[in-house]
Amino acid sequence: MSGYSVPAVVLGQLGALPTLETVRVAPPERGEVLVRMVASGICHTDISYMRDARVTPVVLGHEGAGIVEQVGAGVTHVRPGDHVVINWQPKCNQCRHCLSGRSDLCENIQGTAVPRVFQGDSPIAVMLNAGTFCPLVVVPAGGAVPIRKDMPLTKAAMLGCAVATGVGAALHTAHIHPGDSVVIIGAGGIGLNIVQGARLANAGAIIVIDLDESRLELARQYGATQTLPGGQPDLAAAVRKLTAGRGVDHVFEAVGVPALMLSGIDMLARGGTLILVGAAARDATLPFHPRRFMSQQQQIMGCIYGNIRPQIDLPLFADWYSDGRLHLDEMHTTSVRLSDVPEVFATLDQDRGIRPIIEFEAQA
Ligand SMILES: [Zn+2]
Ligand SMILES: [Zn+2]
Repeated sequence: MSGYSVPAVVLGQLGALPTLETVRVAPPERGEVLVRMVASGICHTDISYMRDARVTPVVLGHEGAGIVEQVGAGVTHVRPGDHVVINWQPKCNQCRHCLSGRSDLCENIQGTAVPRVFQGDSPIAVMLNAGTFCPLVVVPAGGAVPIRKDMPLTKAAMLGCAVATGVGAALHTAHIHPGDSVVIIGAGGIGLNIVQGARLANAGAIIVIDLDESRLELARQYGATQTLPGGQPDLAAAVRKLTAGRGVDHVFEAVGVPALMLSGIDMLARGGTLILVGAAARDATLPFHPRRFMSQQQQIMGCIYGNIRPQIDLPLFADWYSDGRLHLDEMHTTSVRLSDVPEVFATLDQDRGIRPIIEFEAQA
């Protein structure tokens, strides 16, 4: 059987901890790219898969960067040796949304990748068309986005989810205008990048809420103009106090907790928008008063992957990092090996900083 025998972090079943398994990765076929991973970030969504993965077994991981190892027939935009960021939303380029210029709404994203990973003879799923907790990853051509070679791939990994989602939410979902006021609830990898997006958009007030003071400190470094410790009884009142009673134009909920979303609604100014970026539990519900959305012309929006245009925006984010306009180094506080990942999942209560990053070259 052709292919490569490699270790991978696999979630065998819901509710279990992931384990390190030996898998076989098949070579890329037509329209596919084989990437040798250099780094992969551990994102909150990887952890939430333990309770809500739709299929198991599944190779975890979706935020990563690496070097093209091999390309299948028909792939012309990259060649072996190119540095790429994994885009976990490759488009079909054929559905109604793709053809109408809204490929962020592609109807076929879930099924874009054909599994090229096998356990024994059985193909197994990969998370979000990627499965980056594996040293070799086969993605559809659109899932490998080339970037400049002078950006360290350990930092570039974060472009693929945290930066795309956070900076994208601010610039491409909310379309923050200069002077707009913003609240960001949750200052993890996504929230801190929303802060950066708000700063890049020249927002006015950028108010950040989190339970952890060290994250609020980082938020201030990244552009927050005010911070509020989470956990206080009436966060919305605290935000109104900071905004002359008016509330804010954009509230980003980056935690995925319904009570915080409701609190976010109460922070909105007239005409304001609540943007749901955090992944709630699949069965979560939200009771709210629709009348005020009518009379105050407010909105609630969902946001996945920051509505970015991956082929344009991921290389642009790499440029912004290199220009010093996008800060990433401070978020990368912990490096781990692939074999450490099950342990990281088992000890989530330990503080490992904003973004633990798997460094594959440290493997051998
Ligand atoms: Zn992610
Ligand atoms: Zn499509």
